Amino acid sequence: MKILSIHADFIEFEAKKKAFKGAEEGIKEGLQRVNECLVIFTAFEKTDEQNISLIIQKYTQEIKNIAQQVNAQNIVLYPYAHLSSNLGNPQMAEQMMKDAEKSLAAKFKVTRAPFGWYKAFDIKCKGHPLSELSRELTADSTIQDGKKAGNKEGRDAKLETTVSKPVQEESLSLDQIKNLLKQVSRSRLDTSNLKPNDHRIIGKELDLWSFHDVAPGMVFWHAKGLLIKNLLIQYWREVHQRNNYLEISTPQIMDKKLWQISGHWDKYKENNFVTKYEQRDFLVKPMNCPGGMLVYKSSSKSYKDLPLRVGELGVVHRQELSGVLSGLFRVIQFTQDDAHLFCTEDQVEAEIEGIINIINEMFATFNLQFDHVELSTRPEKRIGAEEIWDLSEAALEAVLKKKKMPYKINAGDGAFYGPKIDFHLKDSLGRTWQCSTIQMDMSMPERFEAEYIDRDGKVKRPIMLHRVVYGAIERFIGILTEHLNGKFPLWLSPVQLKVVTITDAQIPFAKGVVERLKTAGFRVELDDRTETMGKKVREAQLQKVNYILTIGEKEMKNKTLAVRDREGKTTFDVPVDTFIKRVQDEVKDRVLG
Ligand SMILES: [Zn+2]
Repeated sequence: MKILSIHADFIEFEAKKKAFKGAEEGIKEGLQRVNECLVIFTAFEKTDEQNISLIIQKYTQEIKNIAQQVNAQNIVLYPYAHLSSNLGNPQMAEQMMKDAEKSLAAKFKVTRAPFGWYKAFDIKCKGHPLSELSRELTADSTIQDGKKAGNKEGRDAKLETTVSKPVQEESLSLDQIKNLLKQVSRSRLDTSNLKPNDHRIIGKELDLWSFHDVAPGMVFWHAKGLLIKNLLIQYWREVHQRNNYLEISTPQIMDKKLWQISGHWDKYKENNFVTKYEQRDFLVKPMNCPGGMLVYKSSSKSYKDLPLRVGELGVVHRQELSGVLSGLFRVIQFTQDDAHLFCTEDQVEAEIEGIINIINEMFATFNLQFDHVELSTRPEKRIGAEEIWDLSEAALEAVLKKKKMPYKINAGDGAFYGPKIDFHLKDSLGRTWQCSTIQMDMSMPERFEAEYIDRDGKVKRPIMLHRVVYGAIERFIGILTEHLNGKFPLWLSPVQLKVVTITDAQIPFAKGVVERLKTAGFRVELDDRTETMGKKVREAQLQKVNYILTIGEKEMKNKTLAVRDREGKTTFDVPVDTFIKRVQDEVKDRVLG
C-alpha cells in the first residue's frame, strides 16, 4: 500500500463520474469541504491482498501516528489510484477503506471520499515539515518511510531510499497506564528478615540506591550512592594510572560472531542476554575480554609494547535466576574493574606481583582483610601446553610465597584455559565472596590469534592475564557498606559535613561557611531549619555525616566552628581555615576515620 498524507487547511472534492462499472454506489453528491484536516491519499496494491487485516491495522496505526504528530482531529480517507502502478482488487480496496474508516471513527472525525469515481479536488497544504509525508506499508513488520513528498519524480526517488520505522503499539487508556504504574511502583524491599546493617536497609536510610522489579538484579543508583561508586572508580583510576595501566571502553552489545570466537556464545548460553538488530544476533556483553582483544589486535604489537596493561570499567550483564538475586551482592548488571595484561613468559611473575601489590594497596585503604586466598591449578580437561601450565602455576605460587600471603591450593579447580588466584572477603554475616582474581588465559590469545613480534623477529603469542580488584563494584560497595555500617570514611562519604545553626541569627554567617567549604571541595549541607539543635544534630548523626559543625552566637562572633565528630566528641572554637586544612588532609590521605 502506498499513502501520501497531506496536512491541509482544507480540502474540497466532488465526485464527477464513475471510473469503472463497479464503483461505489450511494455516495454523497455535490461539493464536500473539510477544514483543518489530514488527508490520506491511498492506493491499495496487489501485494496487500494477502494479509488485509494486517494492512488495515498498519494503515490505521500509521494514520494515528501522523495525526498525533501534526495534531489533527479530522481525517479524510481519499482513494487515489495514481500512487501505484500495481493496484489491487477494487472490491477489496473499497472494503478496506470502509473498515479503516470504521476503526478510525472511534478517535477522529472521519470523512471518506467515494471509491471508484473521478473526482475534482482542491487542497491547501499547510506547508510545514510534516505536512507532506509518503509511506509504503507492507505486510512485513516495517513501515517504509518515504519522507517528505515532492513532485512525482522526487517522490519516487525517495520511496526507493526508504528507512524502516517500527510500528507503534496501540496507545493505552489512562486506566491501563495507572494499573501498570501500580505494578512497577511496588517496592520489593522486605526488611523483616534483614539485619539492621544490611546494605539494602542502609541504602534506603541514606538514600543511596534502590531496586525495582522492572530491572531485576540491576541497581538504581541514587545521587548519593552514585557518588560513592564514582569515588571508588576515581580512586581505582588513580592507582592504575600510577601503575601504567591504560583504560579503554568497548561496546555494550556485539555481534554473535565475536562470542562464537571467544566461546561465550555456546558455553554460557543460558546466562546471556541476546538481542537482534537488522537480522543479526547480538549479545549484551557478559565479559569485557573479547572487546579488549579486538582493541589489542587493531594494531601490530612488538615486544617493546609489552607488558601491556589495559583496563576497562565495563558494565556486563549475566542472567541469574531471580530467586538468588540479593541486593548488591548478587546482581545481573554490574561494573567490573577489569584489566587484561599481555606479556611475555619472562614478564609473567613481575606482572602477577604488580597486580597483588595493587590489590593489597587498595584493600588496605578500606581496612578489609581477605578471609582466604585460593590458588586453583590445572583441571583434568584443559587446553594449552604443559610447560605453559607449569610456568603459570609456578609464577602464581612464587608470588604468593614472596608476598607471604597465606593461601590454599584447590588442585584441579582452575579453568580449562588457565590457573588462577581468587581473593575472598567476608561480609558482616560471615559469608565469603570472591572479589579480586588473577587469571591466566591460554585460550583467548589462541582463539583471537593475538600476536606480537619478538626481539628475534618471530611472531609469538603473548601470555594473557585477566584480573579484577574490586571484582563487581556493586558487590564491593555492598560489602563495604555493611562492613562500615554505613559510616563511610570522609573521602567516600556522600555527605561529609553538616552545618547546623542554633538560631536564625547565624544563618548568614553559616551560609558563608557553607560556601567556603564547598569551594574547598567538600560535600556539605546546611540545616537552618527552626528546630532545636538537639533534633538537628540527631538527624545529622542518623545520616552518618562525618562532621557536624554547629554555629551559635559565640562561633559567629569568633568566626569559628564547634566541630562534632561521629563519636560525639566536640571540639570548640575551631577557626574555619584550621578545620578546612584538617579535613582536606583527611581526604587526601583517605583516612579511614
Ligand atoms: Zn577478561
